Amino acid sequence: MEDTASPTQNAAAKCPVCRTEVDAANVFCNNCGYPRKGTEHEQRMFLLNRNTKKNKLERANKKLWQATNTLFIIGALIGIIALGNCFLSFTSLHGDYGQMISQLPVSFIFVGLGFWCKKHPWPAILCGFSFYILLEILYVALSPHAIFNGIVIKLFVIGFLINGLVAALETEKLKKEMNL
Ligand SMILES: [Zn+2]
Repeated sequence: MEDTASPTQNAAAKCPVCRTEVDAANVFCNNCGYPRKGTEHEQRMFLLNRNTKKNKLERANKKLWQATNTLFIIGALIGIIALGNCFLSFTSLHGDYGQMISQLPVSFIFVGLGFWCKKHPWPAILCGFSFYILLEILYVALSPHAIFNGIVIKLFVIGFLINGLVAALETEKLKKEMNL
């Protein structure tokens, strides 16, 4: 209800948009920038603009969530393969301890990047993306015949991570603009 009240009537009270206490003399809310003493048109434009930014932020957050999960899933899959190798080694089939020893740290790195992503998405996704590309290059160099193995999944991983990088930059910019 208060949202629709004329802001000039609430001059000494809270900003109708972000609920911050605003000084009566202020023309703009010093937190969100709402034109408290602007015309109705200016106020409507401000709200429209803010809503558009909110929607953009929601979409970018969804992409960030996908990129974070991609890092966790890569880490988990490599971890499962490493444990599988460990199991095969114990049962003295054709398991390979060497492979397990090299795979486990890679698995931990991706899971760690997934956690880091929640605090600092941009550097975390950039590291994850670079590391993933490096591993793929090594993989293709070691077994060139397997270049197209799982290509669809690999393209999805690359797509999610690139989307995440773009979204990380966008959320930072939007948060700054919206003073969140
Ligand atoms: Zn405000």
